[in-house]
Amino acid sequence: MSNYHPLTEQEAIGIARSVPGIFGPEGELSCREIGDGNLNLVFHISQASTGASLIVKQALPYAKVVGESWPLSLDRARIESEALILEERFAPGLVPKVYHSDNDMALTVMEDLSSHVIMRQGLIEGGVYPLFAEHISDFLARTLFFTSDLGMNQQEKKLLTRSFVNPDLCKITEDLIFDHPYTNADTNSFDSHLQADAERLWSDQELHFEVARLREKFLTQAQALLHGDLHTGSIFITEQSTKVIDPEFAYFGPIGFDIGAVFANLLLHYASQEHWSADEASRKARRQYLTDTIGDIWHGFERKFRELWNEHGTDRIARTAEYQDDYMLRLLQDAAGFAGAKAVRRIVGLAHVADIDKIPDADVRAKAQRLALTIGTTLIKRNRQLTSIEEIIHIADSAS
Ligand code: ADP
Ligand code: MG
Ligand code: MG
Ligand code: MG
Repeated sequence: MSNYHPLTEQEAIGIARSVPGIFGPEGELSCREIGDGNLNLVFHISQASTGASLIVKQALPYAKVVGESWPLSLDRARIESEALILEERFAPGLVPKVYHSDNDMALTVMEDLSSHVIMRQGLIEGGVYPLFAEHISDFLARTLFFTSDLGMNQQEKKLLTRSFVNPDLCKITEDLIFDHPYTNADTNSFDSHLQADAERLWSDQELHFEVARLREKFLTQAQALLHGDLHTGSIFITEQSTKVIDPEFAYFGPIGFDIGAVFANLLLHYASQEHWSADEASRKARRQYLTDTIGDIWHGFERKFRELWNEHGTDRIARTAEYQDDYMLRLLQDAAGFAGAKAVRRIVGLAHVADIDKIPDADVRAKAQRLALTIGTTLIKRNRQLTSIEEIIHIADSAS
């Protein structure tokens, strides 16, 4: 019998209190629920007398979607805490510390990162993060390499995949990224001025062919343990520090999916500069910063992944230079394709991004949305022909 029930603030305080080494024995604890409230509860618990604090995140057994409720497995809370622990092992310092987890109650107690800002919000406010490319390329290279067949004993990896079978959340991704945006689905949601643009997505056979290939890869290629939801809302950031949160979508999938998620969200922000930059000159500079960041992420990722491979590769045949080049090229192409799919779904699908949705003027918003769709569909259609990150950047720059 499960004890599971959604926590009250008082119960969250009780759980926080029982974590050793955080709070002083005397002072009172106070609690605020700070989650977005769609899938999970997030309690912030703090002690005024010591300044100590922590986070209790608890999964809810349903997702609230446009007034409806979808049942959603609580096992994703176990997946989230186990993924955080593995990510900390492979990429130390780049995720919140896990203090405690309780699979029955579907909760994780973790480090409070309120000293950071959510990167999406930070970017909207014009933030510049000089160490981000270095940090996120580290995170990507290390978590993905060490959970792939290149960096992990193959049998050990096969056993580990059992802990990350994540059918409910993979189904959400399959539907919302690889299906609904390309059909007239009820869950789609877009401004009425995009009706004709959406209908073009629904009838574009060349696009559907590439999306079907990407979907197949998402469903069948257990290349490495992915974060699975690596958008800029899953990244806490300051100028000095980067912390990746929220790996509840973690599963063994294609490496390019995580890299593409980061690129897509930087490109959506690029498109949103139609509004957030005050004039042409600052827009150009801001876009340059974003494309430089994309370039630095790819080059950093590629260099680090190859270094890890050369140093720790578990298979001699796999270290053949030609195979390594071929493998890295496929990751680049996959990243481009998945980035495109992730950009498209944020414009016409169920879940959007604030960078674009918060643009107040409908004409300016439409311009940003169409730019994101052009970049996204071009990346999808051309993904298998691309040979360098510079071509990906060129696709964005020539669309804008
Ligand atoms: P969800 O899976 O519901 O999206 P997240 O893990 O992304 O949940 O958390 C939702 C919000 O809660 C974040 O945007 C952030 O504001 C807050 N939050 C989550 N984890 C932490 C943390 N470790 N420290 C501080 N705030 C957090
Ligand atoms: Mg959320
Ligand atoms: Mg989240
Ligand atoms: Mg989440």
